[in-house]
Amino acid sequence: MATDSVVDMDRLVALRHDLHRHPELGFEETRTAARVADRLGELGWKVTTGLAGTGVVGTLSNGDGPTIGVRADMDALPMTEASGRAWSSQTDGLFHGCGHDGHTTILLALAEHLAASRAFSGTIVLIFQPAEEGLGGGRVMVEEGLFDRFECEAVYGFHNMPLLPLGRAVVKAGPSMASQDTFKVTFEGKGSHAAMPHLARDAVLATAEAACALQGLIARETDPHVGAVLSVTELHAGTTHNVIPADGWLGGTVRTLDTAAREALEAGIGRVCSGVASARNAEAKIDYRRGFPVLVNDAHCAGIMRQAVVEALGGDALDDDFKPLLAAEDFAYMLEARPGAYVLLGQRDEDHTAMVHNPGYDFNDRLIPIAVRVLAALARQ
Ligand SMILES: [Zn+2]
Ligand SMILES: [Zn+2]
Repeated sequence: MATDSVVDMDRLVALRHDLHRHPELGFEETRTAARVADRLGELGWKVTTGLAGTGVVGTLSNGDGPTIGVRADMDALPMTEASGRAWSSQTDGLFHGCGHDGHTTILLALAEHLAASRAFSGTIVLIFQPAEEGLGGGRVMVEEGLFDRFECEAVYGFHNMPLLPLGRAVVKAGPSMASQDTFKVTFEGKGSHAAMPHLARDAVLATAEAACALQGLIARETDPHVGAVLSVTELHAGTTHNVIPADGWLGGTVRTLDTAAREALEAGIGRVCSGVASARNAEAKIDYRRGFPVLVNDAHCAGIMRQAVVEALGGDALDDDFKPLLAAEDFAYMLEARPGAYVLLGQRDEDHTAMVHNPGYDFNDRLIPIAVRVLAALARQ
């Protein structure tokens, strides 16, 4: 395929390994951003820096046509690598465990290919965003006017996927990644001697009962066809065996592929916890925090991305049996602002079996030319 000859794989792999050796946390990707900006400049792209702090945007025009955005993420994870690769992280406790080093490299490879081939009409906007891992760099870029300054008609994103074999891809219309919210509920009662429970208003009982009662929101109130989880992951109360504590708290996460279910679960947590507290003569203080929204692929744009995958990788590359994940992705904020689509690109082979966010994970360099072929086909369309 032409793209393989246009892009220099040896240099790209060296770049990917360099980024891997030097991981940076969200909003601190100064070295990575500088490398991106330098390379885009060398290739003749118009470069804008400083969006959401370390974000970088490159634009290239070729005659009349639509303005299309393509986004990659640049940040690493605060975890220790155990991949055993020669290019392992040189910073303790910091690791490109999600493959964003690969994503950044792919978008620079696309920049190189498009600058050389000019195989597109209109304007391509390459978006290198900071802080995808939980900090919402995508949201900050949108809030700072990304799409006012770069008026993209559509925006596309991608992620490597170790659960899919190399050369396969998943992109479908509709909800494709989950929303991700967190909650903490504090139950305030009255403490007492453990031998005199009638003088207490027992927050331990209320906290424990609420942890169980919350599951009824999923089991009895959520459409069984909707993907939704409510996980209580923390339960805290008390300090010793003979004191009933004055308060207790529980916390956890809500994830769903359905925006209406998300609203109902948020309201339901308040109702159930207040109800349980009231039954136990205690009080519930609810702190519900909204994180990433549901990632929804636009039907038309998903169709364009599917066509690009088929053109680049062949008719059997699309895996339509792959179930949507309840993982979250901050590209969802960009898809709230503009129509677009997000594609999962398979990266699994015999040397790359670890899931993302696993200490043994490493991005598969063989995905670089595959991803460039898909994105180049997208740009041509
Ligand atoms: Zn990740
Ligand atoms: Zn990721």
